[in-house]
Amino acid sequence: MGELIRSVAAHEVGHSLGLTHNFGASSTVPVEKLRDNKWLEANGHTPSIMDYARFNYVAQPEDSVSEQGLIARIGKYDLWAIEYGYRYYPDIPSAEKEIPFLNGAIIEKMKDQQFWFASEFSTDDPRVQTEDIGDNAMKAGEYGIKNLKRIIPRLNAWTYVPNEGYKNLNQLYNGVTNQYDYYINHVTTYIGGTYETIKSSEQIGPVYSVVPATLQKEALSFLNKHIFQPPLWLLDTVILARIGQNATQIIAQSQERVLNSLLSYTTLTRLAEAEALSESRAYRLINYMDDLDQYMWTELATYSTIGIYRRNLQRYYVDKLLDLSKNTTAFSDADAIIKNKLSEIKARLKKAIPKTKDAMSVYHLKYLEGKLSGIP
Ligand SMILES: [Zn+2]
Repeated sequence: MGELIRSVAAHEVGHSLGLTHNFGASSTVPVEKLRDNKWLEANGHTPSIMDYARFNYVAQPEDSVSEQGLIARIGKYDLWAIEYGYRYYPDIPSAEKEIPFLNGAIIEKMKDQQFWFASEFSTDDPRVQTEDIGDNAMKAGEYGIKNLKRIIPRLNAWTYVPNEGYKNLNQLYNGVTNQYDYYINHVTTYIGGTYETIKSSEQIGPVYSVVPATLQKEALSFLNKHIFQPPLWLLDTVILARIGQNATQIIAQSQERVLNSLLSYTTLTRLAEAEALSESRAYRLINYMDDLDQYMWTELATYSTIGIYRRNLQRYYVDKLLDLSKNTTAFSDADAIIKNKLSEIKARLKKAIPKTKDAMSVYHLKYLEGKLSGIP
C-alpha cells in the first residue's frame, strides 16, 4: 500500500511541477519486456509516472516479477521532462534563444523511443490510451485476461470477511469486469485508428499516419476471441448468485459497446478516409466489413447450435446494420457495402434455417430473417 501511495503522490507532484499526462510513455515498452524481471527492476514498466499505467498487468506468476516491476514509479522520461523545464543554461542569454536549443535537445533525445511524449488528447491513437501498457494491446490484453481468469475463482476467498456480507465481493467483481472492459477498449481503438506523432518542423516524416491493416486485423481477431465469443469465464455462478448480477446483461453490455464502436459513423468514415489516402497500408472498408461479418456467423458454416450470448450478439449486429442502412447518405461506399451485406446475410440465413437442428437456434434465425424481409 505504501508503494501504491508513493506512486500516486509522485504523479500528482509531477502535475504540481508543471508536467502534463504522457499517455504515450507506456507504449514504448515491448510487451515481452513486461515479463522480464531484470529489465523491469532497472527500467520500470513505463518510462513515465505521468502515464496512467498504474500496475503491470502483463506479468505472469511464473515470471516472479518483484514489486519494483509491478507498480509505476518515476522513470527516465520524467527526469528528462524536469530537466527540459527547469535546467538553467547560463551561456544562453534569453528564454527565446533557448527555444532552438531545446528543440534540438528533444530531437536528440528521440533517438531513444522511451523519451517519447504523446498528448492525452490523441484519442484516435491506440498507442496513447489510459490504463494500457506495452507496445501491443492485443498481446498485453491476452496476458491481462489470463491474470483476470486467475482472480475470478479466488475472489470469494479473497473478499471473505467474517460476520460481514458480500459488499467487497460485489465491488471487486465489478473491478474485474471494468478491467476486462479496458482491455477490450484498448484493442477496439486500433480499428480505424490514426497514429499522431507530434513533431517540430525540423523532424522528418508524417505526424499523422494510419494504423497498419495487419494490426487492425489482429485487433478484430482478438475481439472475436474475447468478446464475440462470449467470455464465459467471467460468469462465475457462485459469485453472480451472491451479488445478484445478470449474466446476459454483463456480456451484452460489453458486446454492444464494441459493436457500437466498430460500426459507428466515425469508425467507418475513418476507415474510408484512410483507404483514400494510403491505399496499401489501410484496412479496406470492404475487407473490414467482410471480416467482421465472418466472425458474426461462425455457427452457420456447420449449422450448429447458437448459444444465448451469440444470439443476442447476432440480433444486435443485424439491428445495427439495418439502422446504418437507413441513414448513410454521407458515406456512399459504406452504404453500398452495408446494403450488400444485408442481402448476403438474408441469403445465408435462408440456407441455414432448414439445415440447423437446434429449435431455439432455428427460431432465432427465422426471427432475423423476418427483420430482413424488406431487403432485396
Ligand atoms: Zn494526472
